[in-house]
Amino acid sequence: MAVPRLRNFIDGEWVEPQTEEYADVINPARGELLARVPLSSSADVDRAVAGAREAFPEWRNTPPAARARYLFRLKELMEERFDELAEVQTREHGKTIDESRGETRRGIEQVEVAAGIPTLMQGFNLEDIAAGIDEHCFFQPIGVFSHIAPFNFPFMVPLWFVPYAIAAGNTFVVKPSPRVPLSQTRVVELFEEIDLPPGVVNMVHGGNLATNAILHHPDVAGVTFVGSTAVGRDIIYKTCGQTGKRVIAQCGAKNFIVVMEDCDLPKSMAGLMTSFFGNTGQRCLAGANLVLVGSGSFQKRALDAFIEAAAGIRVGDGMDESVQMGPLQNTASKERVLGFIEQGIREGAVLALDGRKPKLVDPDLPEDCFLNPSVFVDVSPEMTLAREEIFGPVASVLKARDLDHAISLIHDNPYGNAAAIYTSSGRAAQKFRHDVKCGNIGINIGIPAPMAFFPFSGMKDSFFGTLHGQGKDAIRFFTEAKVVVERWF
Ligand code: NAD
Repeated sequence: MAVPRLRNFIDGEWVEPQTEEYADVINPARGELLARVPLSSSADVDRAVAGAREAFPEWRNTPPAARARYLFRLKELMEERFDELAEVQTREHGKTIDESRGETRRGIEQVEVAAGIPTLMQGFNLEDIAAGIDEHCFFQPIGVFSHIAPFNFPFMVPLWFVPYAIAAGNTFVVKPSPRVPLSQTRVVELFEEIDLPPGVVNMVHGGNLATNAILHHPDVAGVTFVGSTAVGRDIIYKTCGQTGKRVIAQCGAKNFIVVMEDCDLPKSMAGLMTSFFGNTGQRCLAGANLVLVGSGSFQKRALDAFIEAAAGIRVGDGMDESVQMGPLQNTASKERVLGFIEQGIREGAVLALDGRKPKLVDPDLPEDCFLNPSVFVDVSPEMTLAREEIFGPVASVLKARDLDHAISLIHDNPYGNAAAIYTSSGRAAQKFRHDVKCGNIGINIGIPAPMAFFPFSGMKDSFFGTLHGQGKDAIRFFTEAKVVVERWF
């Protein structure tokens, strides 16, 4: 069968990109070529932004309740196509089908929340700020926004932004990750099916060139980015400052999970496994450093249970319902993770569970992108393993004297995306929640993923900007406050 060549979606039409450069989209579990994705040029971005700019005046004057009706239709279609949307994610990304179902649900929830725009976008006012004078604050849409997406949640992450932006009356250009362009292609096909007016949502496939064209385009009012800190801080945030654009840059992570001796270890283990090894460790909220706090015997017991559970994880093609962990998303990701494992060994950490040689549920699968879970012990905080984002199924186990020591380890790390504590002590949980400088905190929850009606937070090197994706923060980001002072003679 011919391999499809993807096209851009601009002004309500599927258009051929003005580029000869294409990249392969490969199913990492089976090595099969799924599609070829264009690496669009700046001319393609110009065309998409022009379409979005032309659509803006009419769309901003469409009443919010009418804009919301498009999102109700989108939600209905997403429910109807739920299984198919999940399968696309598993095929292009490798995550298990159950993880893809979870991602699909979380994406749909964004559409549901954004459909509340007539309430979410309301301003406020005060009569008689002086005799006979009233004052109002309105929130108004701004223009063309864009999203530059990461590879790890190909369906959900762009939905942290697109539904809110268009519900608020803006128009949009989305640039999916070239590694996983098929999920957003399906989303845009659904936008087409609900007859969203042409130009309201446009999609340009591509890599660095397309990103840079978006960052420098004078008609783009703001950029939302989710990806690594190196790109988010040094390219996106910096350039948006230079070009005067609003920006949300949600970036990389190194999340600590603190396990106290008073926790309920058996009940905690399933959550710990999902945190460290779910999505094959390719989550910005994934546990990376496991910090054990307590007596020597507790630490041994916790470690033994953790390693035993990790060793039992079933690895294979995510389309197999019995599989608990899929492959890394591509061969480069696997090589990167292997590099960290080698580095950990060189720096003196002990590889207590070695996942380098894949053991697969189906031994006939190509090993190209697969690893099994690895666990390092005797990791000290200054080691590369403990400091840098590995973004793969590798856990580093550290020890702490007490909770204060554990919190100081978290604070010595430059990232501040998420942290979690497992404990039965309300006092310890309260202190952790209050003191820890991370945006998303879990208490007996290994992946503290904020629901759509809360901001997806992040601090320190994990976030650059002021307002976050999702919920009311997103609405505020995609609107300008306008204040009117009014008197009638
Ligand atoms: P990435 O930074 O490599 O790529 C993200 C996007 O930026 C892609 O669309 C890519 O095409 C573009 N890009 C990459 N390099 C570029 C360059 N030099 N110039 C211009 N554009 C460029 O990130 P990724 O590997 O796709 O995603 C994984 C990262 O995302 C991890 O660090 C993870 O922690 C982070 N992430 C963060 C959150 C969060 O909310 N904080 C959520 C998901 C993922």
